[in-house]
Amino acid sequence: MTADSKPLFTKVALIGIGLIGSSMAHAMRRAGLAAHISGYVRSEETRDRAKKVGFANSLHLDIAEAVRDADLVVLATPVGSYGELAKEFAPFLKQGAIVTDVGSVKTAVVRDVGPHVPEGVHFVPAHPIAGTEQSGPEAGFAELFDGRWCILTPPPGTDPAAVETMKTFWRRLGSDVEVMDPKHHDIVLAITSHVPHLIAYNIVGTADDLETVTQSEVIKYSAGGFRDFTRIAASDPTMWRDVFLNNREAVLEVLGRFSEDLSALQRAIRWGDGDALFNLFTRTRAIRRSIIDAGQDTAAPNFGRGKKPTQ
Ligand code: NAP
Repeated sequence: MTADSKPLFTKVALIGIGLIGSSMAHAMRRAGLAAHISGYVRSEETRDRAKKVGFANSLHLDIAEAVRDADLVVLATPVGSYGELAKEFAPFLKQGAIVTDVGSVKTAVVRDVGPHVPEGVHFVPAHPIAGTEQSGPEAGFAELFDGRWCILTPPPGTDPAAVETMKTFWRRLGSDVEVMDPKHHDIVLAITSHVPHLIAYNIVGTADDLETVTQSEVIKYSAGGFRDFTRIAASDPTMWRDVFLNNREAVLEVLGRFSEDLSALQRAIRWGDGDALFNLFTRTRAIRRSIIDAGQDTAAPNFGRGKKPTQ
């Protein structure tokens, strides 16, 4: 057995086994990262669905049982639930264990979870920049993190060995790893993820509310661009409610800039300033090219969709 195929952890506990939790379980199994994967579920229904998929060694309705003897505990529920869950499992953590998470915001996670992490347990917050608009235990797949970034935001004073272990963990799940300050993470994600989601939710909501265009017209002619927003706007409502409530400052800062730039575009259209529009659209095209060059999307036309959308 090489160092790269040895289990890194004897037991990993996943607190929440939706898209991200179940994908981690699949990817851990693929990489042989954990001898035992346990999952905490809050309902028998989710437990039965997860059992059918079969990515965990044990599934528990009792959080103490899920984390007992675990050397890694991963919070993978909506971020608004982290504080309460951490408080519940904290008394049952093993000395030397690592607590981590996958939350899409980081300052609030450090604020809510940090105080519950006992002496002798390490806390290394993380955010894999990977996802789909699907949710639940059936949505996960082992390749989700391949070639994507995972950002770690360890609070000052975190044991460097625990940070190294988490770097190794994410690399073996398929990701590239970066360490960042939580506040900086939150502003980077506000512009790259949170505000784009808000724009998508807003445009789809506006289309739904328009009185002069019928809903069937919006759906029928959606290939004109609208449907690409609907993929994002179909993301889990609970998860995204919690993201906006917990990254308020950074989202409002970016939204302020966004509104100013939108007003400038409005003005350019009103005054027939074609140069302003053309120059912006040329700059934005170059950004798309850079994303493809960085391997973060496909170069195939129309996001690699076939000529006709497949079901
Ligand atoms: P998901 O598929 O909706 O799964 C969430 C899971 O958490 C479900 O199993 C749900 O259980 C459980 N859950 C919800 N509230 C709970 C509570 N109060 N107590 C216990 N369990 C609870 O969500 P996800 O996409 O995996 O997202 C999980 C985390 O990953 C979020 O913090 C999100 O910010 C982060 N993240 C998501 C993405 C993405 O694109 N989706 C990307 C990166 C990071 P039930 O089955 O009982 O509802």
